[in-house]
Amino acid sequence: MERLTKIVATLGPAVGSPDKVRKLIAAGMDVARLNFSHGDHDVHRRFATWVREGAEAEGRVVAVLQDIQGPKLRVGFFPDGAVQLANGQHVILRQGREMAPPGEIFLDYDHLLEDVEPGEEILLADGLIRVVAESKHADRIDAKVIQGGVLGDGKGVAFPDTNLRVPAITGKDRIDLEFGREIAVDYVAASFVRTGADIEEIRELAAGVPVIAKIELAAAYSNLDDILTEASGAMVARGDLGVQMPLERLPLVQADILSRTNRAGLISITATEMLESMTKSPRPTRAEVTDVANAVLAGTDAVMLSAETAAGDFPVEAVETMAKICATVESGMDQASMIDFIDVGDSFASAVARAAVEAAHNLEIETIVAFTESGSTARLLSKYRPPAQIVAFTPEPATLSRMALYRGVLPHRFGRRDYTDVMIAAAEKFLEKEGLCERGKAVVMVAGIPPNVQASTNLMKIHVIGERDRGALSQKGGRSAPEVGGGGSR
Ligand code: PEP
Repeated sequence: MERLTKIVATLGPAVGSPDKVRKLIAAGMDVARLNFSHGDHDVHRRFATWVREGAEAEGRVVAVLQDIQGPKLRVGFFPDGAVQLANGQHVILRQGREMAPPGEIFLDYDHLLEDVEPGEEILLADGLIRVVAESKHADRIDAKVIQGGVLGDGKGVAFPDTNLRVPAITGKDRIDLEFGREIAVDYVAASFVRTGADIEEIRELAAGVPVIAKIELAAAYSNLDDILTEASGAMVARGDLGVQMPLERLPLVQADILSRTNRAGLISITATEMLESMTKSPRPTRAEVTDVANAVLAGTDAVMLSAETAAGDFPVEAVETMAKICATVESGMDQASMIDFIDVGDSFASAVARAAVEAAHNLEIETIVAFTESGSTARLLSKYRPPAQIVAFTPEPATLSRMALYRGVLPHRFGRRDYTDVMIAAAEKFLEKEGLCERGKAVVMVAGIPPNVQASTNLMKIHVIGERDRGALSQKGGRSAPEVGGGGSR
């Protein structure tokens, strides 16, 4: 069954062999996520190699996404590895990441004593435990537990009410980004960013690799427009975002992030707990199936699996299940209503892309072909959300794997041709040979004249597969389909 929505799967111990990674690819993984909050560089290097080898063996294009840890704040340590906190209990909060005596908790935020004010809430262990600051002293904050629970060593801490001063990236992130360049990752996902300036800083270190902003802080959501001016996409990181706001707000916030990211013409990813029960069960819950479906209906580029594939008992089944849900939901969607998705309509490229999607829709054409250097033509086509598959040809290896994350785009390697006619003829041959389109069927082609130049998209051609032969036979070279675009082919 054909599928348009892409699947990001997190790699971890559950898929720790070349064979298991290859099985994830065969099941439908389009993007492998390396989570740099866990594992060392050797582990990530091995995974990247296995992904590339597995993709080659399966004849698929799979991108590698490096998810850097970012400035996640954590609690310190406890003599027994954990402490039980009861509702109403008074605790002392101290600055640092040390071993806490009974009744105390260390928090590794450097400006704790300056920035946290009485009355502000502090969330511990991914929001399971809530304490409120009561009074501030030179060396501590006295706080009261509102919602108790067991707090383990190094658990996450969030300050939803406090204006924090945290750097965009840590020393570890810098080292990891350098390593990411070494293993040639295709995307960087930036954790705990707050502003567009944070993304700009990470972009510089990522040296040309597109950066996806993880929206997981209330501050990031407030600054979404600013972030979207700098990022290549946004991930609705529901795990941490759900700690920052009441959970019941998440569905509306998710819809808003997806809609604004798509309208900006950027990549959107919906993440976390999508098929969580599949960490332990071969079948998802009804609610999970509906959750994946709703993300697809809202027009997400990709849906993401975390613990399901990294640490679960049924990683391959989780990818297969996700693939089936996406394909089934897409087949019943009213795609025509999605054509207005995008705001960035003031360039030749987006005008041609929109025209191509409308032509494919009106003529019920099932394949759109894009010739692209940077991938931006394929991305623009994808952003109009056509029901047609977009076969994207590129000679650029980096573009090839990045396109694995674009909804509805099938990336293919394709050598440069000097003349548009030669390029179209070669594409036609390829489509037929690979079974992507049958002889006699029409396709919409989008390209740039002259060919092989970045940002030159200006041509749309409706082309019937095999028509070139008919033209050659008649010796007239006449074409039954109209050609629209700036200038003729060389
Ligand atoms: C999230 O919080 O939802 C998320 C994707 O980030 P991480 O898995 O790194 O916590």
